Amino acid sequence: MKMQTLAVHAGQQPDPSTGALNTPVYLTSTYSYGTAQEGKDRFAGKNPGYIYSRFANPTSSALEQKLAALEGADEAIVVASGMAAISSIVYALTQQGDEVAFIDPVYGGTDAFLRNTLVRAGVKVVSYQSDDDFVARHNPQTRLVLWEPVTNPTLKVIDSRKIIEVAKKIGAITVCDNTFLTPALFQPLSIGADLVMHSGTKYLSGHGDIIAGVIAGNGPLIQRVRTVALKHIGVPMGPQEAYLLQRGVKTLPLRMRAHCDNARAVAEFLAAQPQVATVYFPGLNSHPGHQAIADTASGFGGMVALELNGGFDACARLLDNLQLFAQAVSLGDLESLACHPASTTHAAMTPEDRARANVTDKLVRLSIGVEDIDDLLADLAQALAKV
Ligand code: PLP
Repeated sequence: MKMQTLAVHAGQQPDPSTGALNTPVYLTSTYSYGTAQEGKDRFAGKNPGYIYSRFANPTSSALEQKLAALEGADEAIVVASGMAAISSIVYALTQQGDEVAFIDPVYGGTDAFLRNTLVRAGVKVVSYQSDDDFVARHNPQTRLVLWEPVTNPTLKVIDSRKIIEVAKKIGAITVCDNTFLTPALFQPLSIGADLVMHSGTKYLSGHGDIIAGVIAGNGPLIQRVRTVALKHIGVPMGPQEAYLLQRGVKTLPLRMRAHCDNARAVAEFLAAQPQVATVYFPGLNSHPGHQAIADTASGFGGMVALELNGGFDACARLLDNLQLFAQAVSLGDLESLACHPASTTHAAMTPEDRARANVTDKLVRLSIGVEDIDDLLADLAQALAKV
């Protein structure tokens, strides 16, 4: 079936006890197994019944089936946050002495987890400046490599095909953080990635009302991650969140189309404005990496960044005059959001690291929502006129 059909139907069956069409929110921590023999069988894995909601819950299980179908995966795991997804994957699949590689930049929380926390478990962490840098300098001993195909905040593109090709040669596990594109636009497993993960807080849920994480993949790898994420670290998604994510995902392909169309129109509009020095949007032919996304994905996403002629003050004037765009971090909500990364999301970096990442004082990041494009452009035009 096609993506939009899967988004609506996969993982959804009428509730066996009531016939409710939507999977109910199962607010229970434990499950009666009735007889001693049944309890023994469930714990021995001979009977698939539920035991305890940290291990599995019917609301989460239904959602996992839907997400696995969208990613073309055997299995998906839903967890408490995107960070829970990343840390569970890395703790499950690496050990002391291993080397983990990532392609710069990754989300700041991921960067900090790898560089500051993971290293304390005796895992070596190495970063590469680009896909080509990884191709040129990779270490055959690398155990796991993590990347984001479209990165934050300058929307630099990492060509997943290059990373996967090298990783396969050296036997490294490939983990793609697909938060920015989502399976509606890009399915990393279909081009050979081992695992795909998301901050489900963003486009997957789409309504800015939950914190959520998703991991999907095939075979024994995903089983190992499930055991560590849920049984050992203990970061399940709660059933309320699972319900909301299930509901949000049903409209994911529809929403992504609207985000992509609006983002393209905003990027093209901004590129023609005299106050705007640079526009970052992978859908523009001029964007480095445009072709890599065009070849592997069915859309360029809903994020746009721009540099103004002027520094923080010019950006503040733009941001403070926007009326439809909320000034907030995060992304992928129905509402358009705007932020000044250098003084907010990337403020903890040293000025040198910010310069290396191209996060200048002139940079504004926009998460383009699904409002009417005429209203978004009018809002940007009136705010830019005041810069
Ligand atoms: N990965 C990416 C690309 C993100 O943008 C984020 C959050 O902004 C995360 C992971 C972490 O997700 P969460 O905030 O749900 O823990």
